[in-house]
Amino acid sequence: MSANDVSFSVNFLSGLRQVLGEANSLLPLHEPEFGGNEWAYVKDCIETGWVSSVGKYVDQFERQLAEFTGARHAVAVVNGTAALHIALQIAGVKAGDEVLVPALSFVATANAVSHCGATPHFVDSKELTLGMDPDALAAHLEFVAERTANGLRNKVTGHRIAAIVPMHTFGHPVDMVGLMGVAARFSLPVVEDAAESLGSTCRDRHTGTFGCMGILSFNGNKIITTGGGGAILTNDPDIARQAIHLITTAKQPHRWEFVHDSVAYNYRLPSINAALGCGQLERLPNFLSRKRQLVENYRKTFAHISGIHFVDEPEGCHSNFWLNTVRLSEANMSVRDELLAVANDAGYQCRPAWTLLNKLPMYQDCPRADLSVAEALEASLINLPSSPKLAELLS
Ligand SMILES: *Cc1c(COP(=O)(O)O)cnc(C)c1O
Repeated sequence: MSANDVSFSVNFLSGLRQVLGEANSLLPLHEPEFGGNEWAYVKDCIETGWVSSVGKYVDQFERQLAEFTGARHAVAVVNGTAALHIALQIAGVKAGDEVLVPALSFVATANAVSHCGATPHFVDSKELTLGMDPDALAAHLEFVAERTANGLRNKVTGHRIAAIVPMHTFGHPVDMVGLMGVAARFSLPVVEDAAESLGSTCRDRHTGTFGCMGILSFNGNKIITTGGGGAILTNDPDIARQAIHLITTAKQPHRWEFVHDSVAYNYRLPSINAALGCGQLERLPNFLSRKRQLVENYRKTFAHISGIHFVDEPEGCHSNFWLNTVRLSEANMSVRDELLAVANDAGYQCRPAWTLLNKLPMYQDCPRADLSVAEALEASLINLPSSPKLAELLS
């Protein structure tokens, strides 16, 4: 390392220290926080015996989610991956199809495609949103695809291209207006992976409500948690009905008969998890505003450190800033791992973006577009500790 690199990592560390204070124990990337009615609701489940798939909390959680996001329907599911699997199946994704997904995403986005027997087809991201680039997507489809009576066909692989799955990276809304335009042009359904973006809006519309369906995750590290959990958002009552049917073993309603009309799943969110979710959702506005204070602290601090750029919300959008992120300038990309080591050694849990999905062994032979922006983002992004409680340290 050069003397320059050393002073750069010293600056990075002093920036973290300025915002977060001294780390006496490890400051995790994102910690769950309980302290409202969570315990009372979970206790109520246990005391009344309604802990499993039936009980008032599932309905209540779904109603609260629909109200908060503005989606007509929210269907509570056992986790975000299962929600995406079901959403893709309802959107018409079949075995042998291809589904367009960003190479820069968490592995679950591609896994849900594989669970349908389909293949992820990786596309590039945009620097400003960290999400799928509509213009690059349109250019790629013009080049690689042809319209047939059976839908859009990949001319190289011969497979049908069945859907687009944009993802809102670290909570920052992707350009949904642009992507819906491309989807309409190529007659493709859109399922949004909004696992990370509960509380994020674009032009005052909640992420996950632009496509025919969107999915959320309530895993332990997300902005609110149900322990494990997820949801499907949709404005279409028929889709909501299909989703509930598919996640509850496709059982036809009857007082005592067990008649199931298709091969389906046991993916319903248990009531005890939904109870935790009801308590967490009540606290979401508080989490969002404290996280915004943390953002201001990071933004101010990193504005003074050259070579590091704080990743802000895209224009016209309001991000939940699930994970705060900095991007290293090109000259400094080579010291990314050094910065990660220095920060983690000092007790600030920082991590790089995911390894691009097309580099993972099970996905390395999948079709893909030019991924040069995603490559650059992969090499230059660092996530910073982002729990709401970290906002109080500075002020
Ligand atoms: C967390 C996450 C998921 C999956 O959610 P689980 O609830 O963990 O199954 C899917 N996609 C993205 C982008 C995620 O971050």
